[in-house]
Amino acid sequence: MNLSIALLAALGSVAAFSPSSSHHSARPTTALRMVSQLEIQTGKSQLDTAVIERFNSLPYPDDKILAEYVWVDAKGECRSKTRTLPASRAKAVATLPKWNFDGSSTGQAPGDDSEVILRPCRMFKDPFRPRSDGVDNILVMCDTYTPAGVPLPTNSRAIAAKAFEGREDEEIWFGLEQEFTLFNLDQRTPLGWPKNGVPNRPQGPYYCSAGPENSFGRAVTDAHYRACLYAGIDISGTNGEVMPGQQEYQVGPCVGIDAGDQLQMSRYILQRVCEEFQVYCSLHPKPIVEGDWNGAGMHTNVSTKSMREPGGLAEIKKAIYKLAAKHQEHIAVYGEGNELRLTGKYETASIDKFSYGVANRGASVRIGRDTEAEGCGYFEDRRPSSNADPYLVTGKIMATIMEDVEVAEVKALDRAEA
Ligand code: ADP
Ligand code: MN
Ligand code: MN
Ligand code: MN
Repeated sequence: MNLSIALLAALGSVAAFSPSSSHHSARPTTALRMVSQLEIQTGKSQLDTAVIERFNSLPYPDDKILAEYVWVDAKGECRSKTRTLPASRAKAVATLPKWNFDGSSTGQAPGDDSEVILRPCRMFKDPFRPRSDGVDNILVMCDTYTPAGVPLPTNSRAIAAKAFEGREDEEIWFGLEQEFTLFNLDQRTPLGWPKNGVPNRPQGPYYCSAGPENSFGRAVTDAHYRACLYAGIDISGTNGEVMPGQQEYQVGPCVGIDAGDQLQMSRYILQRVCEEFQVYCSLHPKPIVEGDWNGAGMHTNVSTKSMREPGGLAEIKKAIYKLAAKHQEHIAVYGEGNELRLTGKYETASIDKFSYGVANRGASVRIGRDTEAEGCGYFEDRRPSSNADPYLVTGKIMATIMEDVEVAEVKALDRAEA
């Protein structure tokens, strides 16, 4: 029986809901003992598959769908709420209605004028509410506006969209590597770590590993992978990371602003999956500061059409010189707490100095070995942190590399410096 109902029944507050009358006579001392038990067990009943299945198997009305509207709040975290829509309105993002929410509850509007408008930008299938009747429930990535139609200051999508506008011919692709760290619900102990301690072996065996002593959180990453594929996200891979409990997945290549939409939705799906597994996920770039542990990034792989064509390496180098000239401007939008990660150690470059190199993981920007050998391909900006705003990162890169300016050449790092 659901413990919370038992407890409330014992306290006499919801006697009418209690399937058993025996608790009515419980003395206060028993009730108090149950309070402490409840704190530990809260949430367990929500994971009872038999209970969940009873309701999940109820059929939906075939002319209606559930739409989960997702948006980014003032802290860069995803929020969402659900509405019922006529199935006919969910055929394309253009026919989805706008919606609104109380911005005073998310730090996005003052209390006396609190309505924020949600504008649907991108639609996905909802992997958390699958249905088998040929109609899909949906997740809807939205951005945020005042009632007068002005983008909120926190609407970074609107800022990025300006950089991409009218540049469709460039066919810019982004592949985003999202690193993250899984913790126990205490939010202090990464998966695979002893409570109040550190792993008995240093970094080395955990990256891309297998085995119970090396790999922690595979059930979460596999569930997330499947959920993203089902949703229609272009998830392109996943791997265990260098620090135990740290993981990565990649989204892309995606075209232009779509990279931001897909990455944000993939983060929302990750949060939802972690909720199901009762595992805490952190996007902090340096979740463990003490000791020798890698931080977490959002490496951003970039190519335009001309970079992917024969001779594209020259285009790639031009773009890199432009990035070098604006290093600090980029760092400013590459994520909070990134200074803890970009130390020049643990496969990062210093936050103070731009560098690039071929196959060099200690550089700000890396050109892959294949790209150099083939003379065309893409480059990797390794600076963005795991909690960076993907709209700001992709938009800023686009704006910088599209600028019509002459910039000084930058010398590549020697292999010896790697
Ligand atoms: P790493 O070797 O740095 O760990 P990953 O394999 O994790 O690289 O991620 C590389 C990402 O770059 C993938 O998402 C991939 O789809 C993407 N990618 C591949 N080719 C291109 C390209 N031409 N332009 C942009 N992104 C690309
Ligand atoms: Mn990677
Ligand atoms: Mn990685
Ligand atoms: Mn990488």
